[in-house]
Amino acid sequence: MALRIGLLGIGKIARDQHIPALRADRDFELVACASRNASVDGVANFPDLAAMLAGTQRLHCVSICTPPQAHFDAALAALRAGCHVMLEKPPTATTRQIAMLADEAKRLNRTLFQTWHSRFAASVDVARDWLAPRRLTGGKITWKEDVHHWHPGQQWIWEPGGFGVFDPGINALSVLTEVLPREVCVENARLEFPVNQQAPIAATLGMRTEDGVAIAAEFDFRQKGEQSWDIELTTTDGRLKLSGGGASVEIDGEVIGQDASLAGEYPRLYQRFAKLCAAGRSEVDWRPFQLVADAFLIGERHIVAPHIV
Ligand code: NAP
Repeated sequence: MALRIGLLGIGKIARDQHIPALRADRDFELVACASRNASVDGVANFPDLAAMLAGTQRLHCVSICTPPQAHFDAALAALRAGCHVMLEKPPTATTRQIAMLADEAKRLNRTLFQTWHSRFAASVDVARDWLAPRRLTGGKITWKEDVHHWHPGQQWIWEPGGFGVFDPGINALSVLTEVLPREVCVENARLEFPVNQQAPIAATLGMRTEDGVAIAAEFDFRQKGEQSWDIELTTTDGRLKLSGGGASVEIDGEVIGQDASLAGEYPRLYQRFAKLCAAGRSEVDWRPFQLVADAFLIGERHIVAPHIV
């Protein structure tokens, strides 16, 4: 029997990825949506989550696609209404909130799937398997995109809890923590805040693995022209590069895997969610979120030119 699922927050990612993935997945039946401003054809539409939970019979799951500031209250309410929950990245606005959600899911015996969509690019598995037996000697993340192109009008990104440049940057950290055979922590950070905004427009991080290998990261929302979503990792036995946010992987300059459109990410996310629900398990990994939170804790703060959304 398909799991009856409701979607909360009908914005860019819900329309681009969640709705098509759900409509193609026989494990789920998209029966309802909750949105203050939008509606979706062919399902019951509600103005908010409370109305969707009250107005939809036998709702098994809720998938939350709102910005992170709205994740905690929504996930808590959905879990307490007896639903399994899938949560977009970044997990929540504060680190304590995701820990509390994980505890609540366990207490209520519901599935909480706290997703990192970039980990579901096909190249990520290739990279992890290649790195596993090798000795890392260094790493560099370059994640630079034009915020006006990719996040037009998204004021929430610039508000407290909106993550700024870490909204995409946390994707790189989710891939890094997935493919590295060792744990990594932040040693230093430099954050640039536009004078008129509450979240950083650019950041550099100095990280170190538990066995002392340095990994640098550069995140920037002001990139014009060519966009970069690259992770380069050097080992004693060759150099691996993940490009395009995981769309391709190359070893010593030779492409060994490609999924140019990244079209598989969200179908694979929902396949995992269905398996977790069936097995009665949750999946929560807040290490990428801790790296971002630590960058805010330890980072030097620099004020830069105003940013107009
Ligand atoms: P978006 O286009 O701004 O859509 C978010 C939707 O959430 C809004 O349309 C709004 O729908 C609803 N919402 C509820 N509470 C809100 C609040 N306090 N502020 C603003 N909107 C609120 O954003 P998005 O790009 O879809 O991103 C949503 C989440 O998905 C973020 O956590 C983001 O990191 C993640 N994500 C985005 C992408 C991407 O490419 N855009 C990719 C992967 C993941 P209603 O007004 O209809 O209620």
